[in-house]
Amino acid sequence: MPLEHPAHEALQAQLAELDAASLKRQHRIQAHACSPATLADGKSLLAFASNDYLGLANAPELIAAAQAAAARWGVGAGASHLVSGHTEAHQALDEALARFTGFEAALGFATGYLANIAVMPALLGRGDAIFADRLNHASLVDGALLSRAELNRYAHCDLTMLGAQLSASRARRKLIVTDSVFSMDGDVAPLAKLLALAEQYDAWLLVDDAHGFGVLGPQGRGALAEAGLSSGRLILMGTLGKAAGVAGAFVAASRTVIDWLLQTARPYIFTTATPPMLAATLQEALTLIAVGDERRAHLQRLIAALTAGLAGTPWQLLPSRTAIQPILIGDNARTLAISQALEAHGLHVPAIRPPTVPQGTARLRVSLSAAHTAEDVARLCSTLHDLAQDFA
Ligand SMILES: *Cc1c(COP(=O)(O)O)cnc(C)c1O
Repeated sequence: MPLEHPAHEALQAQLAELDAASLKRQHRIQAHACSPATLADGKSLLAFASNDYLGLANAPELIAAAQAAAARWGVGAGASHLVSGHTEAHQALDEALARFTGFEAALGFATGYLANIAVMPALLGRGDAIFADRLNHASLVDGALLSRAELNRYAHCDLTMLGAQLSASRARRKLIVTDSVFSMDGDVAPLAKLLALAEQYDAWLLVDDAHGFGVLGPQGRGALAEAGLSSGRLILMGTLGKAAGVAGAFVAASRTVIDWLLQTARPYIFTTATPPMLAATLQEALTLIAVGDERRAHLQRLIAALTAGLAGTPWQLLPSRTAIQPILIGDNARTLAISQALEAHGLHVPAIRPPTVPQGTARLRVSLSAAHTAEDVARLCSTLHDLAQDFA
């Protein structure tokens, strides 16, 4: 029996408004392990929708590692990290992540969202200032708000505007924060120039490498390694549920910063440690990332095939050299209609709408994975060619 209550009426009206504006979100219920070949809501679909950039989420090596780790460690950590939940597996992963990223120390978190809402409140407070790219991920916005520092947002990758904000600021402590690869655009932040501004204005630089870790740089060491940057001002956040194929995240920085996070980062301290079997599985994922040049080369070939395949068509790919290849549409309802038309042809390409992206910039977010084949990308291109007359 439905629980009727007058308090529901306002929510129901708001849900109806979202629906009318083509903004209501729905689960797609998946019946297969993460893979380009999906069975979603009972329909067989070729999906361009995951962040599993290297195809590790369902890799036999990681399934075997997870099975062995479950036998060794059981399934639950039983407590938070600073009580009794921090195992040798967690410690070994933290140390491996520090070595892999080239930082003095690293600390594992349960998710990237939690890592991002941990760092800024730990380092900054009232009287301090944060300078954030306007297209940063929602978790970075939330982290900045939670810190209570003044939040200055600069236009996307606009270093002139950022420089002006930094030079006008009289805050005690400053922090610049950016996505490395922008999650809904696929472009890469000008990291060397951001670090130069951080040096000039005595600010921290926090880089969210959710979409670069595992994919960019030598051996997949990430966007900072690709740019050849290292500095005591740098704080790196990377996620382990995207290219690494498992779940979790980490912050890598100087030993001092990591020691401070261990004392003060509330989303680290007041939550149950992740299952140690995941930490052990992630060590194997790091090994696969390090030896993953063939996976990364295959991904690069797919990116090149998609951009070549859509060149000269009315479909407007945003400029991106990464696995995130969005097609800008604009209108919410049209974006949804195109996504539905693709689905009628057996393809799942998500329609990304506000508030995930700014008003008027709804898009199809094509994401490519080393698990895709050249034929998969050719099929996407030919279906888009066929639909161009109706929609583009
Ligand atoms: C996915 C993502 C996160 C959140 O990471 P989770 O591990 O999924 O919580 C943070 N930042 C960016 C840029 C992301 O794309």
